[in-house]
Amino acid sequence: MRLKIAIVGCGTGGQAASILLARAGHDVRVFERAPVLAPVGAGLLVQPTGASVLGRIGVGEELRKLATPIERLHGVTHRGRVVMDLCYRDLRPDLVGLGLQRSAISAALLRVMDDEGVELTLGTPIVRAEGCDVVSESGERFGGFDLVVGADGARSALRAQHAPLVRRDRAYAWGALWFVGEDPEGRYGRDLAQVYRGTRTMLGFLPSGRTQADDTRRVSVFWSVPASSWRGHHAVDLEGWKREVRALTDRADPLLEQIDDPERLIFAPYRDVVLKRPHEGRVAFIGDAAHAMSPQLGQGVNLALLDASALADGLARCDGVEEGLRAYARARARSVAYYQFASRWLTPVFQSDRTPVGWGRDALMGPAGRLGVFRNQMLLSLTGIKTGVLSRSELPDEQ
Ligand SMILES: Cc1cc2nc3c(=O)[nH]c(=O)nc-3n(C[C@H](O)[C@H](O)[C@H](O)COP(=O)(O)OP(=O)(O)OC[C@H]3O[C@@H](n4cnc5c(N)ncnc54)[C@H](O)[C@@H]3O)c2cc1C
Repeated sequence: MRLKIAIVGCGTGGQAASILLARAGHDVRVFERAPVLAPVGAGLLVQPTGASVLGRIGVGEELRKLATPIERLHGVTHRGRVVMDLCYRDLRPDLVGLGLQRSAISAALLRVMDDEGVELTLGTPIVRAEGCDVVSESGERFGGFDLVVGADGARSALRAQHAPLVRRDRAYAWGALWFVGEDPEGRYGRDLAQVYRGTRTMLGFLPSGRTQADDTRRVSVFWSVPASSWRGHHAVDLEGWKREVRALTDRADPLLEQIDDPERLIFAPYRDVVLKRPHEGRVAFIGDAAHAMSPQLGQGVNLALLDASALADGLARCDGVEEGLRAYARARARSVAYYQFASRWLTPVFQSDRTPVGWGRDALMGPAGRLGVFRNQMLLSLTGIKTGVLSRSELPDEQ
């Protein structure tokens, strides 16, 4: 079957879906509210699962060259006690995560969208789907689609229109301030490194590669903040904040020197979204629109890529759209449920007001992580292949 498909949102999920669906012979048009595609925000840790979809799309090699390979996740308390020390290679010697910038992923996918003949309409916020049409904020109607894909992120307007599908849609009490700085000498190495003081203070560094071959290497730094305390950039006491960071660790010093204006800090709130199923009639949801979660487990972009891949496969294997959407939902259900559950329970262990939880974490997680079984489960969760507390899928082929 050849379908006419509207995809709302040109983030990683929408881009990947548009390519795989166009390649399967469908006629695909992507609507993006931003007038220009300039993805900003923190760097991303792409797990081996997400990297395998980028490979399927044909941008794996290019992005691997731009990425910083992340070999280890290393978290310590401000006193230096190890809370987490996970090395991908303990699962398989060639395994790494990819520290990438959003703009690098977006640019690579955009080129393939173009090659595959995907039509991209920028500057067009879609506010609702009506039958087989989508309607923009200005009232313009684009019609005649067989399928509408909501890839419009954590605050999806299309999802809001399908309220009966939504089981949970809540803001997390905590979010993060982000800054992407230059790291020309590669001092931040190949670790995703975190420092904690209780559950109220967390600082992290994610080496995030380059945007293009001749660009400087970058590192993303993130700082945990209660969402209720965010009053806008004008309210940030930059020097006071830098003092707090320096009191925790001197590792951030080269980056703090680069932050001369509070506007360079990006505030990112998180949502926890659970749908009863990721489709209704001829509308399907993928990525954050279907299952926004806290980035504590670094899975959001991976899940969005896996959704895109499963949606294309579901439609390819089935005769009708509805049947294809049910196949998509079945393929993704267990993995999505596991990561939603795990991130909901893990987030307060690192970001909350629950001080005793932090004591428990500092006392137990380090020793538990040295036990083979527990360590293995933490690593499997990190790589993105868990489908339940006791189940998993296969690791992608050699990288
Ligand atoms: C601070 C932070 C750090 C993160 N770190 C990681 C990480 O290390 N690893 C990881 O895997 N994930 C991480 N994530 C999560 C990851 O960013 C998201 O899960 C991922 O970007 C979701 O992709 P998406 O395509 O579903 O949505 P998005 O990337 O949010 O894209 C949605 C797109 O839709 C557009 N849009 C929105 N509304 C409309 C509309 N009405 N009409 C048209 N277009 C619209 C938006 O402009 C945007 O381009 C992080 C998230 C945050 C906030």
